Amino acid sequence: MDLSRFPRRIYTTHPTPIEYLPRLTQALGGPKIWVKRDDMLGLAPGGNKTRKLEFLVAEALAQEADCLVTCGAPQSNHCRITLTAARKEGLRCHFVIEERIPGTYSETASGNHFIFRLMSVDSITVVPAGSNMAQEMEALAKKLRGLGHRPYVIPGGGSNAIGGLGYVACAQEMQQQFFEHGLAIDQVIVGSGSSGTHGGLVAGFVGNHIDIPILGVGVSRDPQDQEPLVYQEACAIAALFGPGFAIPPHRIVSVGGYWQPKYSLPNASMIEAIKLFAATEGILLDPVYTGKVAAGMIGMIREGRFRSSENILFMHTGGANALSAYETVLR
Ligand SMILES: *Cc1c(COP(=O)(O)O)cnc(C)c1O
Repeated sequence: MDLSRFPRRIYTTHPTPIEYLPRLTQALGGPKIWVKRDDMLGLAPGGNKTRKLEFLVAEALAQEADCLVTCGAPQSNHCRITLTAARKEGLRCHFVIEERIPGTYSETASGNHFIFRLMSVDSITVVPAGSNMAQEMEALAKKLRGLGHRPYVIPGGGSNAIGGLGYVACAQEMQQQFFEHGLAIDQVIVGSGSSGTHGGLVAGFVGNHIDIPILGVGVSRDPQDQEPLVYQEACAIAALFGPGFAIPPHRIVSVGGYWQPKYSLPNASMIEAIKLFAATEGILLDPVYTGKVAAGMIGMIREGRFRSSENILFMHTGGANALSAYETVLR
């Protein structure tokens, strides 16, 4: 897939490492576990949103935008990383924050929210759970235009066709690394939320003839609701490359059952997964995404879903910045 004709800003100058996790592998007694360290992406400290923003911010600059508008939850990694990109590019940055759990928004929260203030976000508009975020952002953009600004609106999680190109690029990076390391991966495991990461990887794997199955662990929806979203995202990305490129629906596979009781609320298997990664490998996961995705991987290993000769690759998508906001549940 030729990405060279899409404008891109470079926020990470190197491929993120793929590492073997011998002590975690031994502790679980199952397949060989590898990790793709997308928690080491650029934009202080970055995560999967960094890759999407390379393409989104490049488009904003190409359109001569002077401010970014985006949305998320009060501890949003996406908002934090978008703000970092804005600061780096000299753009203003405005958030619409959805208070998904009523009564939880706090001006003085720690974690990512603290960093919003530290990086001096230009405005935060808080809206109640269930608000139409696209509409709220459009209303804010209209207000900014009225004041003479040129806003560029980035959807939640940066998940549209352009943002998804970041994970097409990641698929290409991984293909090269598998080749260089002589590494035959049998299964990729990735978090599946707003779906740009999962959908982008699927589009990149299909388009580059990488026949490794990808399992998306839902962080807010079970498969019947998540898979159509991921399919739509992968198809939107494919459409950027012309009509000859189709996504076979069977390439979209997700698992549910690990995100409950609710998006961003803790559960026991997430806490176990965070403690296990930290104690065996010194790798920090986060309570909202990677902790639950790792819980899914651990659960499937214990169910015997993988053979012990297999190599499975866990996508570490970042997020550990939110840990401090969850200290009491993790202690
Ligand atoms: C946003 C996010 C995800 C989910 O990625 P999507 O592209 O929204 O599906 C996973 N992990 C972390 C740390 C995130 O911030």
